[in-house]
Amino acid sequence: MTTTAVRATRALDVPAIRRDFPILETIINGHRLVYLDNAATSQKPRQMIDALVAYYTSQNANIHRAAHTLAATATERYEATRQKLARFIGAPSPEEIIFTRNTTEAVNLVASSWGLANVHAGDAIVMTQAEHHSNLVPWQRVAEATGATLTYLPIDDGGMLDLNAAHALIGPRTRVVAITHMSNVLGTIAPIAEIVRITREKAPGAIVVVDGAQSAPHLPIDVAALGCDFFAISAHKMLGPTGVGALWGRRDLLEAMPPFLSGGSMVGHVTFESTTWAPIPQRFEAGTPNIADVIAFGASIDYLDALGMDAVRHHEREITAYALATLRARHPALTFYATDDTNVRGGVVAFNVRNVHPHDVSELLDGRGIAIRAGQHCAHPLHTVLGAVATCRASFYIYNLNEEVDALSEGLAEVEKVFARAIARPQA
Ligand code: PLP
Repeated sequence: MTTTAVRATRALDVPAIRRDFPILETIINGHRLVYLDNAATSQKPRQMIDALVAYYTSQNANIHRAAHTLAATATERYEATRQKLARFIGAPSPEEIIFTRNTTEAVNLVASSWGLANVHAGDAIVMTQAEHHSNLVPWQRVAEATGATLTYLPIDDGGMLDLNAAHALIGPRTRVVAITHMSNVLGTIAPIAEIVRITREKAPGAIVVVDGAQSAPHLPIDVAALGCDFFAISAHKMLGPTGVGALWGRRDLLEAMPPFLSGGSMVGHVTFESTTWAPIPQRFEAGTPNIADVIAFGASIDYLDALGMDAVRHHEREITAYALATLRARHPALTFYATDDTNVRGGVVAFNVRNVHPHDVSELLDGRGIAIRAGQHCAHPLHTVLGAVATCRASFYIYNLNEEVDALSEGLAEVEKVFARAIARPQA
């Protein structure tokens, strides 16, 4: 008989988690805040805020330079976050983690350093129709500078990547496959390991760059298991401060890449004539980095680690399923844009109310203290594909409750009342 270890996923203690997030007590327009804009940025736990204050209160010094105790402590704590993050995303070594300002800068680093050195006229850069501008515009610029072509893998009616198209469109001329792990509009999860497998088979010289801005906060991540070459994240979407992101890259690729920014801290030796580069990761961290926020980000990683990313994922599947079932049942005038299958999607839910502009929906909800996002969510081409001028987007995280979904539903009932005549007309 074989024994199978079944690891039960612990449910999150959401009321206890909520007590760690002071902002959730805020009153907005006379109502307790219902924060459903987590895809834009997450709220922050007291533990992260305390780490930030503690740094400036008692640990502030520049790092990697002076020999005094304060500088050594700051350096140690900054480097500790690198180690925590490497472990958190399954990176083989902390040296392969480069701190940046955000996902956008991380992608720009790869596009500029690797892309401009390795992409040539006639090469193809393959993306998807679901890219955030952050993982699209930098590659458009590489194509413009090098003469490479751009190809976009289509998504199907459920918002899932079409793997048949990936088989057909990734080929020997492909040099870059840049792909978002979880769509910031549809919430759908791309099968990265499968895309990597196709890329290795069809385009052995190509790199696979993963935009993990939406996945790292919500899914267990193991970059080694995904098999990709680069993975980009933003701390502010995963309980951390703004102004910090990271790029994980394969050591051999990073070591062969020229610097992105240059100046202090990223050099080996400098003469009046020339300069040698520092080894990774310093080569890509020019100037004084965002020390305080990197250290505070360490506290956010600790927080997520303590919850367990399996439990985080489990909670989001539950609340997303509840939200989709509730909204579909109570609001027939809503259009959704992605599959309901929580096996392949996260807690980002885009929708529209028939004939009502998303800004009007958002404004009415805001009157009830409910924060959602309305617009194109930095994904203009995707909205063209969806045939939507804009969408409303509700997005969930660890502190959201089913009763907040109910509050959203009540808010939408008000929208339906206010715009009853417009909604009664056929779809414009
Ligand atoms: N990629 C995705 C999928 C995102 O959702 C976002 C932010 O919303 C980004 C990239 C850009 O992140 P940042 O603005 O932190 O650079």
